Amino acid sequence: MLHYPPTLAYAQQQDQDDPLRSFRDKFLIPKKDGKTITYLCGNSLGLQPKSVRQVLERELDVWQNHGVEGWFEGKEPWLYYHKYCKQTLAEIVGAKPSEVCPMNNLTVNLHLMLTSFYRPEGTRTRVLTVAGDFPSDQYALETHVRSRGLDPADTIIEIKPEAGSYTLKTETLLDAIREHQGTLALVMMSGLHYYTGQVFDMKAIAAEANRHGIKVGFDLAHAVGNAPLQLRDWGVDFATWCSYKYLNSGPGGVSGIFVHEKNHDADLPRLAGWWGYDEARRFEMTPGFVPMPGADGWQLSTPTILALAVHRASLAIFEQAGIGNLRTKSERLTGYLEYILGEINQKFGNPITIMTPAEPAARGCQLSLLVEKDGKKLFDTLVENNIIGDWREPNCIRLAPTPLYNSFEDVWRVGEVFEEFYNNANAYNSF
Ligand SMILES: *Cc1c(COP(=O)(O)O)cnc(C)c1O
Repeated sequence: MLHYPPTLAYAQQQDQDDPLRSFRDKFLIPKKDGKTITYLCGNSLGLQPKSVRQVLERELDVWQNHGVEGWFEGKEPWLYYHKYCKQTLAEIVGAKPSEVCPMNNLTVNLHLMLTSFYRPEGTRTRVLTVAGDFPSDQYALETHVRSRGLDPADTIIEIKPEAGSYTLKTETLLDAIREHQGTLALVMMSGLHYYTGQVFDMKAIAAEANRHGIKVGFDLAHAVGNAPLQLRDWGVDFATWCSYKYLNSGPGGVSGIFVHEKNHDADLPRLAGWWGYDEARRFEMTPGFVPMPGADGWQLSTPTILALAVHRASLAIFEQAGIGNLRTKSERLTGYLEYILGEINQKFGNPITIMTPAEPAARGCQLSLLVEKDGKKLFDTLVENNIIGDWREPNCIRLAPTPLYNSFEDVWRVGEVFEEFYNNANAYNSF
């Protein structure tokens, strides 16, 4: 771990020297009682880009002035709106534009992807995943398996960390794939665990699954726009994500999918709708489904243009900042938070356990803290001091400094409030 001078002046100097510092100004940072909040909750809902209101007004104007003609008329017809997002999305997940498409919402897309890529056959019927994954993913998997007439209890294999550990070793996962390969149809799991903040070694997992002819897919809800991704090179079969966390595309914003080019076979089983139908002939409305080539062929319904407009405006900011530059800043910002928490632990007898791995390659921007004693009190003190992170029962605080709109000063503030909290707690205890 790097060492940092423990002063506000140091944090402010880092902000001065930060080549991405101007990007904070592109966001509306919430205020409480006239004071700007320290927002460390981009893992749950990313902040609103200032550009969003204007693009929404533009599409409202098109609707107002052109009505249904908006689908075909003007500089940017609604009919092609998903395409306006593809280039940047492809860069963010490490794909070709033809391999990605923004559409639907995340859990819906999980089911669509499972329909195409979970193909139980013969002895290979099981799905390997990580234990304690996000509940929606667990429910999707359980009910999807049941919809195929299989028993989730026999079919879903959940891999747990070793006793005494919060995170999973890559070897544990790879060993499990090897051990069960004869019965596995699919490996599907989060790429970045929402609770611990661990980034799994997706490259190694995909390689192992590919080696045994097992399909492999990732839920990238917490990874997209946060951790480095090279889905195409890694040989991942499919992925899906949401855009309202690190991609800042608004509450319930449009999800996205990745389907590797090796799977762009028009005959692959899928649940289809007219929006995935061959674009040139979509409005002929003839029987017999003919998919659009690539990921676009998984679209179902008329897209929510207002959601896509927000998504596109937000993606434009990623394009300007550069995903590599964001990652460089992110590692420093989270490293700084880790250092500050280490100082608190040293001063006050280790009240905080960081569950998230220490190696930068095994984490995104989020640190998940276990605070066994007075965790909720500490969290409430953060809130009273205008610091917004998030709280998971019974004792976990998640803090996510994002490189687009968080500053070193934001992180320094966390240390200041922690220090005050533990100073007060100690003063109280000594009476
Ligand atoms: C946020 C999140 C979800 C939420 O799914 P929605 O369908 O967008 O409500 C699902 N899975 C994971 C892993 C998440 O982090």
